[in-house]
Amino acid sequence: MSPTDGLRDASDWLRSQEPAIKEQLVQWAEIASGSHDTVGLQRMSNRLRADWQHHGFTLQPTPLSAIQEVASQGEIVEWKSVDALVARQRPGAARRVLLAIHFDTVYEQESDFKQCQWLDADRLRGPGVVDAKGGLLVMMWALAAIEKFDLAGEIGWTAILNPDEEIGSPASAALFQQQAGLHDFGLLFEPCLPDGAMVSQRKGSGNFTIVVRGRSAHSGRDPEDGRNAIVLLSQVVGEVDRLNDPHAGTTVNVGRIEGGGPLNRVPDLAIGRLNVRVNDASALADFENRLSQIVDQANEREGFEVRLHGGFHAPPKSVDDRTREIQRAVEASLDASEPAIRWQPTGGACDGSKLAFYGLPNVDTLGPRGGNLHSPDEWVDTASIVPKATSIVRLLTAYARGDKWMC
Ligand SMILES: [Zn+2]
Repeated sequence: MSPTDGLRDASDWLRSQEPAIKEQLVQWAEIASGSHDTVGLQRMSNRLRADWQHHGFTLQPTPLSAIQEVASQGEIVEWKSVDALVARQRPGAARRVLLAIHFDTVYEQESDFKQCQWLDADRLRGPGVVDAKGGLLVMMWALAAIEKFDLAGEIGWTAILNPDEEIGSPASAALFQQQAGLHDFGLLFEPCLPDGAMVSQRKGSGNFTIVVRGRSAHSGRDPEDGRNAIVLLSQVVGEVDRLNDPHAGTTVNVGRIEGGGPLNRVPDLAIGRLNVRVNDASALADFENRLSQIVDQANEREGFEVRLHGGFHAPPKSVDDRTREIQRAVEASLDASEPAIRWQPTGGACDGSKLAFYGLPNVDTLGPRGGNLHSPDEWVDTASIVPKATSIVRLLTAYARGDKWMC
């Protein structure tokens, strides 16, 4: 069988599977798997292992390190998510591709967005339908087709499915770092943009928590003994807010404030949480310096202790020559009937940013088309799933045949 026949057969087969794929998407999306919902994540993990096994692939559970978070009393708590899942084919091959996407969603246990609903014949609304359960399907079905029709030749691949992307992949980052050097390039299955455009460069993203501890006192009897943590935190976040510099691409969002109690008591604890996005490494370093200065100055105030936690979980991702080569290969893998790809920068971060930082060039929006991510109106165009999977089959087939890009 010539590769061209094989490709045609693979593409016909994928098209014939479309009704089953749509049904599978509804079932996967209705398994709640919020990043902190370890019971739901384990259920999703079990389902993924069974469905991958159906195509002859073994998803190996791979334990991750513990995650540290600042809890509501300002203390550091440690918890463990479920294992990441890793499948490998021909791991000894000289040329290897890394494919990855997450199986956690932003919809935690308490969310009441749990069911899917068909908006029309192709558009499905539901939790995680496009971010990233639709992407999980594109990846699995592309790999199934490439193995079923023997199109992978001598190339090896590794698939990583991680449970913590929506909280910045604190636990799976080490796995990505370790795997980055073992592969030639990466393919990630985050959703493409609603109009079909794909992401080129990404801003860096950091999450920080500022914990202010003061001293409590009776607000009427001895207010002078108190050190009001809320008031100091307000001043601190006011200064942090002034680090916003839209012209330079730096945006800071103070997203959450916790603290306080009875109104006749000076509050001794206040916690502020913020997210920042930056364009490049120098803006990142600049922001970190200025934030530390603000915190250090506040910490010098008598009677207070001010602590800073967190950091940048995703470095800025830029497009270098190697990334451009993969972009060209993705463009070449499109069916002639599909419109040309538009590449667009975004402020959003993902695991593609980490992999690029660890030295693995990648394209990270190979998932289906959809929109309203992270909201109760999240939707996916299910008609885009099979064409996306088919294009990955073409891309990997071209790579297996030794097309000159990326060596
Ligand atoms: Zn995602």
